[in-house]
Amino acid sequence: MSIANKLARAELVEMVPYQSARRLFASGDAAQANNKTWLNANEAPGKGEYQVSSQNINRYPDFQPDSLLNAYSHYCGLERTQILATRGADEGIELIIRSFCRAYQDSILICPPTYGMYAISAENHGASVVTVPLIDNILDLEGLQHQVGKVKVVFLCSPGNPTGNLLPKEQIIKAIELFKDSAIVVIDEAYIEFSPEQTKTALLKEYDNVIVLRTLSKAFALAGLRCGFTLANTDIITLLSKVIAPYPISAPVAEIASQTLNTGIQQMTQRVRECNKIKTSISIWLSEQSLV
Ligand SMILES: *Cc1c(COP(=O)(O)O)cnc(C)c1O
Repeated sequence: MSIANKLARAELVEMVPYQSARRLFASGDAAQANNKTWLNANEAPGKGEYQVSSQNINRYPDFQPDSLLNAYSHYCGLERTQILATRGADEGIELIIRSFCRAYQDSILICPPTYGMYAISAENHGASVVTVPLIDNILDLEGLQHQVGKVKVVFLCSPGNPTGNLLPKEQIIKAIELFKDSAIVVIDEAYIEFSPEQTKTALLKEYDNVIVLRTLSKAFALAGLRCGFTLANTDIITLLSKVIAPYPISAPVAEIASQTLNTGIQQMTQRVRECNKIKTSISIWLSEQSLV
């Protein structure tokens, strides 16, 4: 049995996800453009006097819009089957907790200081939160070892929010190996565009208990769009796909996000360069201030 199914809430393994007309009969942008009517979807007519926009917005969107998945697959170098587009990385966090933690029984592990939503999502779902604080901005591997077998999901954030630093690669691998039979290790890469060569997506091939989180909210400057990506092996993506809403990505979101991924990479890297330059000058300025 895959580690995904072994660690999942048991009822999800056999569960059949909501069978929308989109999932059953058609997917892809071509289907969006065609004129088929699905009586069971209860969509309003969108032609002629009923047309509200040129975008076929009277139709339900694909569960995972083709154009968006293709664009992110090209950007991150993974297969489409290893990608789940979500309403921000925050939804990825929530789906992971809901998929692997039984309410009032299971726990997640966080390494504070870290991103606040891991604990909030866990508490909302009735999962407990075990903390193993960072020591001098790096992992306390001994502390993590004590929690093996006691937690279902481990959240690591690299580059870290709020620390701003990367976790050493050897430490991340050590953590993944410690938990390889008993927990999913999530590497939150919300800020990876600020040091893209440090991405840990290559670990997805070597370890099946790893998930990488991404977002368009930070370096891509699209926080208002609500678009993130969960990267993992196909077993994990299949599981999370049962828990997510049937139409998580609205058509305008898919359109703006794929356009940005197809034509806006250079603008994004330019933005990152400018942010890094400003960071350096602020850090020099701060170090010259007597009160710092
Ligand atoms: C901002 C942030 C997120 C959430 O991003 P959204 O895609 O906007 O939900 C997740 N993790 C970290 C570390 C963040 O800083």
